[in-house]
Amino acid sequence: MEYLSTRDKTLRLSAAQAIKMGLSRDGGLFTPVHFPVLSALEMETLCGMSYQRRAAYVMGKYLEDFRPEELEAFAESAYGPEKFDHPGVAPLHRMDANTWCLELWHGPTSAFKDMALQMLPQLLGASLRLTGEERTACILAATSGDTGKAAMEGFADVEQTKILVFYPENGVSEIQKLQMVTQEGDNVGVCAVRGNFDDAQNGVKRIFSDPAIREELAGRGYFLSSANSINWGRILPQVVYYISAYCDLLNAGEIKLGQPVNYCVPTGNFGNILACYYARKMGLPVGRLICASNRNDVLTDFIRTGVYDRNRPFHTTMSPSMDILISSNLERLLFDLSGGDDGLVRGYMDRLAEEGRYEIAPEMLARLQSLFYGGFCGEEETVASIEMLYRYRYLIDTHTAVAARVLTEYRKETGDRTPAVFVSTASPYKFCDSVLRAIGQEPAADSVDRIAQLQAVTGTAAPSRLAALKGKTPRFGQVADREEMEKVVREFLR
Ligand SMILES: *Cc1c(COP(=O)(O)O)cnc(C)c1O
Repeated sequence: MEYLSTRDKTLRLSAAQAIKMGLSRDGGLFTPVHFPVLSALEMETLCGMSYQRRAAYVMGKYLEDFRPEELEAFAESAYGPEKFDHPGVAPLHRMDANTWCLELWHGPTSAFKDMALQMLPQLLGASLRLTGEERTACILAATSGDTGKAAMEGFADVEQTKILVFYPENGVSEIQKLQMVTQEGDNVGVCAVRGNFDDAQNGVKRIFSDPAIREELAGRGYFLSSANSINWGRILPQVVYYISAYCDLLNAGEIKLGQPVNYCVPTGNFGNILACYYARKMGLPVGRLICASNRNDVLTDFIRTGVYDRNRPFHTTMSPSMDILISSNLERLLFDLSGGDDGLVRGYMDRLAEEGRYEIAPEMLARLQSLFYGGFCGEEETVASIEMLYRYRYLIDTHTAVAARVLTEYRKETGDRTPAVFVSTASPYKFCDSVLRAIGQEPAADSVDRIAQLQAVTGTAAPSRLAALKGKTPRFGQVADREEMEKVVREFLR
């Protein structure tokens, strides 16, 4: 399988090269030249497999230059019992006869980012070997809270890699911050940026596209790579759980093979829902793709009108991992919906960079609307959604609450009763403060004490690694202005 750039489809790279580079030099995103389709027989085979073997099988379709035994070993170590606290890895929770919640937070950092970031370091390591790379990969990541921690956890002390994470100073929860600044490992670094997530992400993009820095670092034996969801090595592991969830529904006798299922995904950078779209392209019977946003509803407007316009106020919400105005992975969808028109995509992205706005062609909009539904959920509705599900004895976090709410609205608006899965992207224990308030409790003064408080109040168990944050001392405290990010990178790689 070869990969092209969404801004230049004459480019052809192997999977290993695409994963190693992360982002194309032309600013485009690497995308497979075609999508393999799973036959009914293959779906049945997948149903009989563990999550780990499903992952190796599905990924193998796209990673032909990797050995199958190697992929199986990667999946065993990424999703094994030392890392995931649930044997199903990504289990479904049944809400009612046609609604399920897909729990993607059983990994080491309690957010769905682990699903990809436990796998990416292994894929990158193999890619370095396959391409004969001798330099050290320096991973630069901008994070809205969860990526940074999950990436460091995945890359900590991995040979031939270093990782530096930038997060918006006031844009992450206290638990998220504490998780990051206490990260262990000799090859990790963390820095807060004065600004929001988009500022941090733009800073990272700027560094990536700066030839002077690249040359300077090459001279010191480094090259830059990305762990953001623009890397193909992050999207691919995410395709797996949509297929796996469908297999689990089949195994439980809840649906018949071929029966459509809707997926509702809480969305920020558009990586998670894009993976669902790709699963659909592989033949998975996905009905509607429901894109759930918080108050930062740029995607809702886009799906409803065809106009992407980032010129709007940025809101800091209780679901910070979705506080994003530029959803980078949307570029891959545009490329696909345009039938692979790289020139058109380049035009849209240039307009986005220059004016902060573009409008897609009417045929593309029609196609977009036939596949996707966009909805958003404000802060009060997020609280109400947590409270509502808790009354049914199910505790969810703020991001999941957005998805649950938008799914309900979608059903009300359209009358569509297709079986649906809404995606749970974080443990409620990552956002104790908002979750406690939503269920009518006054949060304890100290943010770490709220973990024990939430356990006591709800009788649910906190993920062990979050409970262990109590008493840990921070290792990192650096704060920088946006303009200083280059300098921070240079110092980190001294
Ligand atoms: C990253 C994240 C999201 C958004 O996922 P995207 O792939 O960026 O759309 C949603 N919820 C949580 C908890 C996250 O960490």
